[in-house]
Amino acid sequence: MAAVLKRTGQKMPLVGFGLWKVTKNTCADTVYAAIKAGYRLLDGAGDYGNEKEAGEGVRRAIADGLVKREDLFITSKLWNTFHAYDHAKTLAKKQLGLWGIDYFDLFLIHFPIALQYVDPNHRYPPEWFGDDGKVHLQNTSIQETWKAMEDLVDEGLAKNIGISNFNGSLILDVLRYARIEPQVLQVELHPYLTQEPLVQLAKQLGIALTAYSSFGPQSYVELGMDKNAESLLESSLIQNIGAEHRKSTGQVLLRWATQQGIAVIPKSNNIDRLAENLQCNSFNLSESELAQISSLNSNLRLNNPAEIDPRLAIFA
Ligand code: NAD
Repeated sequence: MAAVLKRTGQKMPLVGFGLWKVTKNTCADTVYAAIKAGYRLLDGAGDYGNEKEAGEGVRRAIADGLVKREDLFITSKLWNTFHAYDHAKTLAKKQLGLWGIDYFDLFLIHFPIALQYVDPNHRYPPEWFGDDGKVHLQNTSIQETWKAMEDLVDEGLAKNIGISNFNGSLILDVLRYARIEPQVLQVELHPYLTQEPLVQLAKQLGIALTAYSSFGPQSYVELGMDKNAESLLESSLIQNIGAEHRKSTGQVLLRWATQQGIAVIPKSNNIDRLAENLQCNSFNLSESELAQISSLNSNLRLNNPAEIDPRLAIFA
């Protein structure tokens, strides 16, 4: 199952493997195992600090004949400190070098937030804070960054380009000047944050949608950022629906998204779970089950830069 991307017609698998917090020293083995289990989409980012190791896993998988480069769909993202035109171009090339590949299938602007440049030789990945422990904004418009993204396409370094953590008004703005329209929007989306208006807008505009943090609070427990929300993986509603179909709660949560045509990129350091997550499309939820799951919505957003610095309230 795949989403067909506009402009290129390239097929983006509906289930991919997320690389955020994939442990650095086991990342190459995990990526290798993910490819062996059947994953073809890898969702990375400069910010995840494991692009070199992920690339090592890809290289081994190709060397062992599991896949060819063209069978894989490799996504990465441009970090906030590299939004200026020249920095965006330079960093994309640096990131490709870390992966050891010639092009990204998809390159995304990670957040619509421009932060002061940090020289990668000084600190990489730079994360949110300057050396003084504070957040420093930079006056770079998304229009400037988008121009760099488009030029990466022209140079063959990115097949498709897109955006992440953008809201409706900013998407409309990008479309006013885009020579190459964003093909993918990646946002936090799970039954506690269903984002129906944004889903409708993306559909209307023909922008493929990828959900991140499909298991809701689970990913944020280890960061102490789960807001004490009830686990979706242990929700009685999801458990009952899973029992009905003889599927795990994780598979139900992923299928809830893919059945709406929304791609998912679950992350796991555990080989059995990553294989289980990939097998989430082998059953169908009923309309009523989809609606019941959606009714869990409480607009609970777990990944909100406003909590890092109130000036970064991009979802306000
Ligand atoms: P996720 O929803 O994939 O959850 C991961 C957590 O769930 C981990 O703690 C893992 O151990 C656990 N888990 C995974 N499979 C399980 C299973 N079958 N049963 C029980 N527990 C299971 O969370 P995520 O990592 O936040 O999101 C997925 C991916 O989305 C990331 O890895 C990253 O690639 C991407 N992402 C992007 C952004 C962005 O700003 N664009 C932000 C967050 C994540």
